[in-house]
Amino acid sequence: MKYDTIIIGAGLGGLTAGAKLAKEGKKVLVIEQHDKPGGCATTFKRKVFTMEVGLHEMDGLDAADMKTKVFNDLGVFDEVEFLKLPEFYRFIQGDYQFTMPHNPEKAMADLIADFPAEEEGIKTYFAKLAEKPMRRLPDDHVELSVGEYLDSIINNDTLKLVLLGNLGYFHDDPYTLSLSYYAVAQGSYFRGGGNFIKAGSQKLSDYLASFIEKNGGKVLLKHMAKEILVKDNKAAGVRYYKNSTPDDIIEDYADDVIANNSLPGVASMLPEEYGNLLSKQFNNTRIGASLLTLYLGFKKPLKEIGSKYYSYFLYDESVKTQTDILGNNKGSFEKRSFTFVDYSQVDSALAPEGKSVGSVCCIDYPEDWENLSTEEYKNKKEEVAQIFIGKLDKLIPGLSDQIEYYEVGTSLTVGRYILTPQSAVYGFAQTPEYFMKPKIETLENLHFASAWTKIGGGFSGAIFSGYMCAFGMLRRR
Ligand SMILES: Cc1cc2nc3c(=O)[nH]c(=O)nc-3n(C[C@H](O)[C@H](O)[C@H](O)COP(=O)(O)OP(=O)(O)OC[C@H]3O[C@@H](n4cnc5c(N)ncnc54)[C@H](O)[C@@H]3O)c2cc1C
Repeated sequence: MKYDTIIIGAGLGGLTAGAKLAKEGKKVLVIEQHDKPGGCATTFKRKVFTMEVGLHEMDGLDAADMKTKVFNDLGVFDEVEFLKLPEFYRFIQGDYQFTMPHNPEKAMADLIADFPAEEEGIKTYFAKLAEKPMRRLPDDHVELSVGEYLDSIINNDTLKLVLLGNLGYFHDDPYTLSLSYYAVAQGSYFRGGGNFIKAGSQKLSDYLASFIEKNGGKVLLKHMAKEILVKDNKAAGVRYYKNSTPDDIIEDYADDVIANNSLPGVASMLPEEYGNLLSKQFNNTRIGASLLTLYLGFKKPLKEIGSKYYSYFLYDESVKTQTDILGNNKGSFEKRSFTFVDYSQVDSALAPEGKSVGSVCCIDYPEDWENLSTEEYKNKKEEVAQIFIGKLDKLIPGLSDQIEYYEVGTSLTVGRYILTPQSAVYGFAQTPEYFMKPKIETLENLHFASAWTKIGGGFSGAIFSGYMCAFGMLRRR
């Protein structure tokens, strides 16, 4: 069968690209190995609870945010409801607590009230986040890490940690996170606020998938792409199979192929010489971190037992300075810093009336879990669940009595569903070196729409990359 475009993967990048192309009259085929569209942007049911796989908060959706334009173009706002979140986050370390508002003026004022000696540094930090992103890098540009930048403008270590409360949204270490990348992404949370998708991110993914189909495209679930066919130095199509019949190889052809799967995954699907040319460009590029989640279903909305915040970031007391963050992320789960999201603080619709859903999330690495027997893996997950439940009980007394269901999804679980190397959820690590690297090039009609492009990961990164990819293709043709 011949299509205008075949897309490998129905994550947000693939779905957004597919939706835009289908809207503009292109015949699109999306091949997705999972039984639902969305990649990280999915939900799953346990008992009466809808567990949100990925979304804690999505930045922006203000008038200046490009996602607003994208969603208007694709009719998303007509069918998907976005809930504004009450605050950015509640930072907690030992006895110190700080509520970070989304409004930058209020954030500055509240921070200055707590750290008066750092007024200048606080203002400099917010001015940096408000800067317009550089369109073209000047020749003499030296890209700093966030860690280096904070050290250069602020003395107080606690303040630096407060500002880095949500670092896990981007990376595992402030000293290897590009300042320019961070400033744009973090700036959007402060400019436009945070949003949750009512009833979970699956709503957005399902909407985009059905939009593709309504516009004449096809989204094939439970199908695995295996090879990208190349003819005359051009991508010619995709070889794939239905998961239930792996021996029956299907071949479909297209003028363009879009990869929503990881770049290393794409390299392994190309004929050797093209795969080598592609992988040469990112051979020494660091791959980003993964995440572990403890999914929780509660008998009551946690608001009723004293929970006051949507998003808590708990830093372990052993993290004294920015230099301790990476070691903490790689250290024991007893001390690992984490975030807790209480979805009952908004009308999330993840649980029936009178119940609620929450989730603990922390940076995680596959090596924490590899080489364990099935029994050891299961026991370790239970151990980790109990560690976090114990900590949550101290944060919100009585919480453990309200638990009706819990389950741990490790980085290995994530990897199994999205098939990324090292189970990475944000693509390549956004290091200063990566920021300075040129865009990765390959066959002229093989395109990338995912967290693995220069735009980076997160809901916003994936959505932008998908839209930009489709837009670029339409313009070229
Ligand atoms: C636990 C967790 C919490 C997160 N929290 C947030 C948050 O609060 N805010 C935020 O902005 N971001 C968050 N993220 C990150 C964000 O969800 C991702 O960066 C983003 O959704 C990635 O989108 P993507 O388009 O790159 O594709 P992915 O979501 O990686 O999906 C890729 C798709 O391709 C499919 N695929 C891969 N290989 C093949 C193949 N060979 N054949 C067929 N299909 C294939 C996979 O099955 C998958 O569906 C979180 C992620 C996780 C896991």
